[in-house]
Amino acid sequence: MLQGQEVSAAEPERTFIAIKPDGVQRGLIAEILSRFERKGYKLVAIKLVLPSKEFAQKHYHDLKDRPFFDGLCDFLSSGPVLAMVWEGEGVIKYGRKLIGATDPQKSEPGTIRGDLAVVVGRNIIHGSDGPETAKDEIALWFEPTELVSYTSNAEKWLYGVN
Ligand code: GDP
Ligand code: MG
Repeated sequence: MLQGQEVSAAEPERTFIAIKPDGVQRGLIAEILSRFERKGYKLVAIKLVLPSKEFAQKHYHDLKDRPFFDGLCDFLSSGPVLAMVWEGEGVIKYGRKLIGATDPQKSEPGTIRGDLAVVVGRNIIHGSDGPETAKDEIALWFEPTELVSYTSNAEKWLYGVN
């Protein structure tokens, strides 16, 4: 072992997923949650939030130079958002697959946006786009104490034991 290097169990992979105000108002919470649940991902944090515009600007800071930024932040702060953290192997990348392409007109049928949304400005759901973003977004939306670590009974059936 290299000096100073710590040996620790790999941290579970987690991603930040949010149902935007249009998804909440259209009554799509249960539909969306069930797609992540049925896949086999584990819910480790969930809350309904009414974000301020300033908070929305923080969340979408990487898009601040885009022409739709202001409208996007108005929209995200226009109603309740269901903020969640989901855990599981490959959840960041595969969560994005479940969500589908940003523009619902290009999302495949079978994906959340492909099945449930029509235009890019109202695409009902957000998902972190990589490990760094996931870490930052989880830290922005949740206090560490709001994340619940637990063993799901389904895990041995989902992952097997070697
Ligand atoms: P995402 O990661 O798939 O959500 O896509 P981006 O990070 O590129 O964009 C963030 C959000 O901005 C998208 O989910 C859309 O709600 C919105 N958005 C992206 N591109 C456009 C656009 O061209 N027009 C409008 N009105 N909204 C957009
Ligand atoms: Mg994005």
